[in-house]
Amino acid sequence: MINIQTLKQAIDPAEFYRSRIKSIATPGMGGWAIAGLCPFHDDRRAGSFYVNVRTGAYKCHSCGASGGDLIDFEQQVTGLPFGKVVKRLAGEYGVTAMASPEMREHAARRKRQLKRAKLEEALAHELAVLLQVVGNRVAGRELARRHRALPPEYRPFPEAHWGRERIAAQRIVSILGRLYQPAAREAA
Ligand SMILES: [Zn+2]
Repeated sequence: MINIQTLKQAIDPAEFYRSRIKSIATPGMGGWAIAGLCPFHDDRRAGSFYVNVRTGAYKCHSCGASGGDLIDFEQQVTGLPFGKVVKRLAGEYGVTAMASPEMREHAARRKRQLKRAKLEEALAHELAVLLQVVGNRVAGRELARRHRALPPEYRPFPEAHWGRERIAAQRIVSILGRLYQPAAREAA
């Protein structure tokens, strides 16, 4: 993204208009100068079209065409959308899309926050799984106690190995480790 403020600061309106309009009179009060024939109507005699060599604004007292800066001017002349005009002017005046340090820092912080949120979500999921399997085991023990008379193959919730709990616990430990690394703490 081109920073509009940076682009405007990079272009001297006087130089810009001189590159596009043949004759520009000496500017008067406030930087306004008679600028030859109006490019927006079939103008025969100079005198109604003015440009401001300080702000880049322009105004035609004959057809009413006007704009606040040279991006407006370029848009009205070319008929191109704002974004295209900005790109063209940036190319012409050597303005590159450099992210400001604030923008870069903001993006980095946002990335850390997203990463942290993802880890916390994974942690919550694994804790829920762990509670679920432990709960099932407790319920299974209780049922097994009540159905002790049944042959083992008919008993509900036979004692399983601790596989799923162990996996959940290992994942929780791993996530906690990543969450509480110094880098993750900075993001908080
Ligand atoms: Zn005009």
